[in-house]
Amino acid sequence: MALSRKKPVGYPEISFLSFDVLDLLARIKSEMDLDAVGPVAFSLQTMETLACIRWEEGKQGGDIFFHSLFNRPDVPQPVVEHVLRHELLHLKIRPRMIDGKLVHHPPEFWEAEQALVPWMSASWGWMVLAFWEVIKTDIPNECTWVKKSWRNLQKYPYPSWQMILNDHERYSNKQGQMKSLMESL
Ligand SMILES: [Zn+2]
Repeated sequence: MALSRKKPVGYPEISFLSFDVLDLLARIKSEMDLDAVGPVAFSLQTMETLACIRWEEGKQGGDIFFHSLFNRPDVPQPVVEHVLRHELLHLKIRPRMIDGKLVHHPPEFWEAEQALVPWMSASWGWMVLAFWEVIKTDIPNECTWVKKSWRNLQKYPYPSWQMILNDHERYSNKQGQMKSLMESL
């Protein structure tokens, strides 16, 4: 999702990810030549949408928020890295008006994301397999809502990254869902 209209409610959580997400964020930010944009904060928390970045015009930096769905040791690093790159890309490629509508993911955004995240189709595939039953894509608003039932998923393991890499069939027949999620994150 591009930017949330309001600050997500909820409390930042301690990370249960299997790697240091702040280190990862700092590395990606440098790689993307974004060190000059100012500090970018990161929080994992329960909120209404899957992920977003907030920034204010005229202010430095931004705030990235990931839903608690991502806050588990079995979330693959390539998926988190993909979503971080996606959110940071919003600081580079700003929303613009197309046919009278403000579009957060104009065509040049997708081209840049493809170049920046060569593994993106596997990552979108993982998110569809892991999250699909508890999310609702909202393409007109370019937003992915997380249903209240998300906690029910927490009893089950997520698909492994290796499984995604080994088994393209599992997600390649989900192109429709992947496209819908892509247009709304
Ligand atoms: Zn986005």
